[in-house]
Amino acid sequence: MRATVDHDLCIGDAICESICPQVFALGDDGLSYVIKDPFPAELQAEVEDAAESCPTDAIAIHEDDAAIDENLLKSITPR
Ligand code: SF4
Repeated sequence: MRATVDHDLCIGDAICESICPQVFALGDDGLSYVIKDPFPAELQAEVEDAAESCPTDAIAIHEDDAAIDENLLKSITPR
């Protein structure tokens, strides 16, 4: 599975990072980035928890082979 963050919605409150720091990290611009792509199955519950806890619904979860909007892909940073 893959996670993305909609940077038009993210307000940078770092809730996702506090719930699942293996997958989400705030960047220098104050927005959340996905640092593990794809994320492993054992982190799925935490990623879902982060998505449900995001106050602006900025986080989406996608199947590995799903087509993802180019704007959302910009939130993925390989590390
Ligand atoms: S919880 Fe949502 S709004 Fe907050 S930093 Fe993460 S993606 Fe952005």
